[in-house]
Amino acid sequence: MHIEQTTDRSYLVTTEGVNWTILADDTGVTLVDAGYPGDYAEVVDSLQQIGHSLDSVRAVLVTHAHVDHIGSLPQLLSKVSVPVYTSTEEARHARREYLQQATPLDVAKNALLPGILRWSMHIMAKGAMKKVAVPTATGVPLDVPLDVPGNPVPFLVPGHTDGHTCYLVGDVVITGDALCTGHMLSRTTGPQILPAFFDHDRVEHLSTLSTLASVAATVMHPGHGPVHRGSMAEAVEKALAGRH
Ligand SMILES: [Zn+2]
Repeated sequence: MHIEQTTDRSYLVTTEGVNWTILADDTGVTLVDAGYPGDYAEVVDSLQQIGHSLDSVRAVLVTHAHVDHIGSLPQLLSKVSVPVYTSTEEARHARREYLQQATPLDVAKNALLPGILRWSMHIMAKGAMKKVAVPTATGVPLDVPLDVPGNPVPFLVPGHTDGHTCYLVGDVVITGDALCTGHMLSRTTGPQILPAFFDHDRVEHLSTLSTLASVAATVMHPGHGPVHRGSMAEAVEKALAGRH
């Protein structure tokens, strides 16, 4: 686990498999995404390493309801009772009214991708096959600041999932899996789009990247991979150019 403080109130926590963001101000902490089920101890540890604890958490935000981003929430919510917010559509996904996630069959079809065996072992060990739901996930209004620590502004970038939500916090944009900078299945780092089989709707994903390109942020917190600094227009351009 590596924690990088990117502004006075934002931290990106990167692990080998997935990232989460911590927003902290004098009103407490907002956790954005929460790793795999097996990442619970590291989520708690990451809060402690920046001088907080589970008790400081006032709210959890979700970019999208895949198991690598909401996995530790059932454990976390059994310890602290805090609201879980995302877009109205993604809240339905998090409540598991439906599931838009790559299946073991999708993975098997991509068995020749370099690194897939190691990745599969990793995610199994992290509890990727666990059925995870967040029944209390609640939709929030988009494009206005939320009344939670850090005051992030949620906005929709659908395609990876129908309700995939990004968050703008000052100069920082939390992109989730709409735009990443690395992955266990990728041999490169830098702005990139995950392999197509992870996307629910690849065509929509590619078309909605223009929303991210127009965001006036200079620091990007991706769902996978390290922090990226620079204009979002350039980051999107790079990701699209490197696509295969
Ligand atoms: Zn992910």
